[in-house]
Amino acid sequence: MARSKSDISNSAIRIFLQDVGTFYDQERGFDPFRPTVMQKDQLLEYFGCQCCFCNVEIDRKTLSQDHLIPMNKTHLGLHAWGNVVPCCQRCNNEKQQKPWQVFIEEKAHIDDVERRKSLINSFVGDMRYDPALSLHKYADSLYEDVGAVATTLINLRYKQAEEAIKLLMTSNL
Ligand SMILES: [Zn+2]
Repeated sequence: MARSKSDISNSAIRIFLQDVGTFYDQERGFDPFRPTVMQKDQLLEYFGCQCCFCNVEIDRKTLSQDHLIPMNKTHLGLHAWGNVVPCCQRCNNEKQQKPWQVFIEEKAHIDDVERRKSLINSFVGDMRYDPALSLHKYADSLYEDVGAVATTLINLRYKQAEEAIKLLMTSNL
């Protein structure tokens, strides 16, 4: 049961981060990031149609989206303008939870690391995404609350199912 409880809590965190991201986009005067075809083109244009980590050419079809600050309960990155960058599928698979500054050093050509980093930093700055925005106070409670409520409801319905099965077994004797 512990496993399913954390799955439910993690899903709640992702929904929370998407919704807060939508609000944060609107507050900064952007159309909420989905991305739409037009928004994908905007991302590609900013990064010169290259993966922001390894420089490989990408287009609308091969574009993969990475959240610079991972969208999970530990990092709490938002699905919003300034936190989603265009990358290739391979980098997206490889990066996982690594800080992007570390990952870029592994992927970009040594002469190109600083240029890549400053391009990403400019992007984050232009979009006015604040990497220090901390939502732990709310997200941590959400994670715990959803887990507790889910466990209570699962236990309640489990007891009822148990009774029903017992009754059925008895009547079949
Ligand atoms: Zn790449």
